Amino acid sequence: MIFALFGPPGSGKGTQAKVLVEKLGIPQLSTGDMLREAIKQGTPLGTQAKEFMNKGQLVPDSLMVGLIESRIKAPDCAKGFMLDGFPRTVAQAEALDQMLKVQGLSLGAVVSFVVDRQELIGRLSGRLVCSQCGTSYHEQTKPPHKAGICDVCGGPVIKREDDKPAVVATRLETFLASTKPVEDFYRAQGRLKEVNAVGSEKEIFQRIVTAIGGAR
Ligand code: AMP
Repeated sequence: MIFALFGPPGSGKGTQAKVLVEKLGIPQLSTGDMLREAIKQGTPLGTQAKEFMNKGQLVPDSLMVGLIESRIKAPDCAKGFMLDGFPRTVAQAEALDQMLKVQGLSLGAVVSFVVDRQELIGRLSGRLVCSQCGTSYHEQTKPPHKAGICDVCGGPVIKREDDKPAVVATRLETFLASTKPVEDFYRAQGRLKEVNAVGSEKEIFQRIVTAIGGAR
């Protein structure tokens, strides 16, 4: 099974992705996580990506396509995988189709997380994240039990650089300008599955499972 999670920043993709990989037993390919790891390791990719990320802009397609292309060839992707945060431009979507086709594979479904803009701003401006395991929290609605410490792994809970208010606004604009057209690309091909992403984690999870039912 190969499918992608698609949605604006703050739509809850990361939270659902964690539950999905556990239940489905396939790897999560989060380009945001891969880039943050590259920055942590100080690799050349990390150095290039950091400038764009800290401004809330997209990292150039050529870098992203290369990153995903080598990742999907890894043995753990043989039984399928879940893309999270990729593709984010129509050029990336076209490159993905091409690289899968070469391997005799195809993308089964694109699950689009639907959340309105006001809700997104509220979620992003209070969002906190464990820098070790990636678990998401929220300053008001879901704080960690002990301030600054992850309930799951005990790692440090921080505010992402790109969740600061000015950057949040740019990320949402970037989504509308560059990423939203990806939705139309998949809708036109009948591969887009829209899911209402407001509700409890369990409710949203059930909606996703129903949506990808046809992707197996
Ligand atoms: P995310 O964790 O998915 O919100 O990604 C954080 C940041 O990483 C984005 O705001 C972009 O700067 C960069 N990024 C992640 N995935 C992509 C992608 N597919 N194309 C371009 N930039 C990306």
